[in-house]
Amino acid sequence: MPMFVDHSPPGQCIFCRLVAGEIPSAKVCEDELTVAFMDIGQVNPGHVLVATKRHAVTLLDITPEEAAAVLQTAQRVARAVQAAFDPPGMTLFQANGPVGGQTVFHFHLHVLPRHEDDGMALAWPRKEPGPAVLQAYAARLRAALQDG
Ligand SMILES: [Zn+2]
Repeated sequence: MPMFVDHSPPGQCIFCRLVAGEIPSAKVCEDELTVAFMDIGQVNPGHVLVATKRHAVTLLDITPEEAAAVLQTAQRVARAVQAAFDPPGMTLFQANGPVGGQTVFHFHLHVLPRHEDDGMALAWPRKEPGPAVLQAYAARLRAALQDG
């Protein structure tokens, strides 16, 4: 995970300042709800961040319209990344909360071109609790959906 962590208050966070044009960025495109710009860290060439223009911290804080706009912008950017950099793979990465790997607390999605042995790592420890547990988890979520 990146070592940089932005603890600025809402409205003063680095992405809000970037959206406001107060700090420079290498902008790729923008629309009413989203802005796409080059990640300063560039895991691989063509690594872009898609952020909401409005300050919202996590996936749980953005509106359904913003969620739709972010993925539409990500797809548009991904097509451009494929055309311009031709990576053999691409990963979308979106982190929520410090434990989830979020380091800038303003909602954003990484469009990350991938190459063999590029050093990007995400451990994926399969635990396979079995069908009864899966059914119980699904029942909890169905109940939560009805509450929401
Ligand atoms: Zn912000």
